[in-house]
Amino acid sequence: MGNVPTAVKHCLSYQHLLKEQIWIGDVTIPEQDPNPTGLPQHVKIVEVGPRDGLQNEKEFVPTNVKIELINRLSEAGLPVIEVTSFVSSKWVPQMSDHTDVMRSIKKFAGVQYPVLTPNVQGFHSAIAAGAKEVSVFGAASETFSKKNINCSIEESMSRFEEVIKSAFAMNIPVRGYVSCALGCPYEGNIEASKVAEVSKRLYSMGCYEISLGDTIGVGTPGSMKKMLEAVIKEIPVHALAVHCHDTYGQALANILTALQMGVSVVDCAVAGLGGCPYAKGSTGNVATEDVLYMLNGLGIHTGVNQTKVMEAGHFICSVLNKKTNSKVAMATFPL
Ligand SMILES: [Zn+2]
Repeated sequence: MGNVPTAVKHCLSYQHLLKEQIWIGDVTIPEQDPNPTGLPQHVKIVEVGPRDGLQNEKEFVPTNVKIELINRLSEAGLPVIEVTSFVSSKWVPQMSDHTDVMRSIKKFAGVQYPVLTPNVQGFHSAIAAGAKEVSVFGAASETFSKKNINCSIEESMSRFEEVIKSAFAMNIPVRGYVSCALGCPYEGNIEASKVAEVSKRLYSMGCYEISLGDTIGVGTPGSMKKMLEAVIKEIPVHALAVHCHDTYGQALANILTALQMGVSVVDCAVAGLGGCPYAKGSTGNVATEDVLYMLNGLGIHTGVNQTKVMEAGHFICSVLNKKTNSKVAMATFPL
């Protein structure tokens, strides 16, 4: 420091102090982590309302209403909208108009419109209707698998393998669901290792993304963290999505926990539509409006117009004559 005047010396040491003690003053540290919160900067929202939400409506929702809802969601800028399910009409009559819906919706450039295909017949019908992406729906619970898709986990895996093979031959990407990831209506607690095992199988078969579903909404940030820790050991975190129902009011907290662990894909349903016919008392998916409100508040980019999603939610709730499950919509449009 030789000839440096005392005042400057003081300044230098003060600067040094500021660098060491960053809570003092407003100091910019050049080598700062660009993402100091540990949260992703962009989140991909997968809108599942038209399928996961509407399939639980007891009264048949007219085909033109389904189409209008999906078109409105596309206009809102949602990057992925799950359109329908190519399941047997005998099992899910609500989705019996799958071909008409798939053919009639407006396909916006850059938007993905996946459909659920439980087996290879469903897959071929979906492709014939113009589907460019499909999803398979597995479970981490043996009993739930038997009650929901009528086969054991092992049998479901061989059905999915057939679907995935056919899809690959046509360059069709496949998304995999793992339901009951945080609990089962029949078996109760589900081991995180079981979720990791089923997820790994789907991922190894070629699913590009694995959506971990808290189908009955019983999870907490604690169980979400434990489950994700096990799954992340087997699958890269960028290939994971979370799918939270809000039965116990924990969905947003669970999603935030997943974001903090590096997950950047979130499934949700406009107006919180949905439930689970096999899980008593289970309420809908977390509302897209509420997830967007939280992500906007965190400064996380989604590319989705929240107002337009709220309008779409208002539209479907008026047609179904039901109250929205979105807290944000309730606060914005008080009745
Ligand atoms: Zn769901």
